[in-house]
Amino acid sequence: MIQTQLYIDGQWQSPVDQGTRAIVSPADESVIAQAAEATRADARLAIAAARRAFDGPWRQTTIRERAKLLNKIAELIDRDADKLARLESLNTGKTLTESRTDMGDIAATFRYFAGLVASESGAVNEAPHHVISRTLREPVGVCGLITPWNYPLLQAAWKIAPALGAGNTVVIKPSNLTPLTTHHFTQLIAELDLPPGVFNLVTGGAEVGAELAESLDVDLVSFTGGAFAGESIMKAATGNFKRIGLELGGKNPNIVFADADLDAAVDYALNAAFFHAGQVCSAGSRLMVEDSIYDAFIGLLAERLPRIVIGNGFHGETQMGPVQSAQQHEKILGMVQAGIAEGARLVHGGKRPAGDVYKQGYWLEPTLLADVTADMKIAKEEIFGPVITAERFRSEEEALRAANDTPYGLAAAVWTRDLDKANRMSRALRFGTVWVNDYHPYFPEAPWGGYKASGIGRELARIGLDEYTELKHSYINLAPKAMGWFGA
Ligand code: NAD
Repeated sequence: MIQTQLYIDGQWQSPVDQGTRAIVSPADESVIAQAAEATRADARLAIAAARRAFDGPWRQTTIRERAKLLNKIAELIDRDADKLARLESLNTGKTLTESRTDMGDIAATFRYFAGLVASESGAVNEAPHHVISRTLREPVGVCGLITPWNYPLLQAAWKIAPALGAGNTVVIKPSNLTPLTTHHFTQLIAELDLPPGVFNLVTGGAEVGAELAESLDVDLVSFTGGAFAGESIMKAATGNFKRIGLELGGKNPNIVFADADLDAAVDYALNAAFFHAGQVCSAGSRLMVEDSIYDAFIGLLAERLPRIVIGNGFHGETQMGPVQSAQQHEKILGMVQAGIAEGARLVHGGKRPAGDVYKQGYWLEPTLLADVTADMKIAKEEIFGPVITAERFRSEEEALRAANDTPYGLAAAVWTRDLDKANRMSRALRFGTVWVNDYHPYFPEAPWGGYKASGIGRELARIGLDEYTELKHSYINLAPKAMGWFGA
């Protein structure tokens, strides 16, 4: 049985009140680990350690040293990629293929930020000859990083790499449902020669996250999760006006025009919605199809759905694993029922699959609800499970209006062979990412984040590093002379 501990000030330790939490496999509900469950008291110790480390020698590290550190972390991720992928699948239920992809992306994230940090040198500004004026980027300070359960280590990497690369110190709090890969990652950090307190791990629930958001000793909080927690973090951050980054939920339209490549659009509609059982912030669960091909499209999806192989993520043939928790399972089924009650037509799924292996664990059939209209709750709220809701539209204007009519703005996709229409749509859709004739790809070089209620700020890309820095104007007068302005 895996036992995890907290990592504070360079030491592995138990929580102050010795709390533990059983970590459960979503595939069969067996207990797979006992994780340290921290409280506010542990968070305070970690914050104090991070503060001391930030105010100490860590500030003197050079960009070259920090770039080398990020590259070293990438090497360790590569070395332990198989172990990490297995832990991620065990804890989240996602297929091993998906977890292996995550680990590759994580190493790439560290390497990308290593390159970016190494290229960071500030700027010398035009100024009079006796003045040196420079624009410098400096670390923000102590960073509280709070991550969700769907992409535990990937989301952590998007925050840790730029935070450490920019010279900050870190307290990370993963979701208390899925702490295992972040714990293993911390073991990799412990192999390195970092000053105590630069990197701290505090596993626990909302109260630990709330302490990070409230503490006057934390300078920045970067949070990925739901809108509810995001709102309370934003309010808590006003105590010292700390910097905040929020990556929140989405309600992401996948819009298929009649002139699209139908084979590809059907295939990607499934991928958009059922990747990691739909538990993806950018999942394309809101399918919108042009009227003239709508019935055919639903027919093609209906043929494919019963063939999706649901099963344990460790089995090679599995295409879709379980959802994360009993709470999610119940919430998703409730949303499906709410949709049916509002008039949606259940084409497939909407229940636990039949068979003994699916009796334990949080299993759901891939689900298709057709004839959904834009005013229904299931077309507006994030479902975060393996459910496609399908709406019909009659014109480009109608599709655009309905797609933008959501408080969220994370990601959208458009399927068409008409490049002019593709360009018009991708400009007019108010979402942080708009794919045309594709779904899901992202690169460390490109920004990730949402418009509107999908969040504040961006991760990845140069802006994903800049968010962990303060800008300073350094002005040095080399030849000061009296001005005689006042009372001379
Ligand atoms: P959640 O909001 O319940 O929890 C996220 C993290 O915040 C966890 O570590 C949790 O313990 C902590 N937390 C909860 N309440 C808190 C509070 N009041 N103060 C401080 N911390 C608190 O979200 P979740 O259920 O773990 O994740 C699912 C959500 O995350 C979905 O809405 C999904 O769309 C979103 N998400 C967004 C992105 C993105 O990039 N935009 C990526 C992944 C997930």
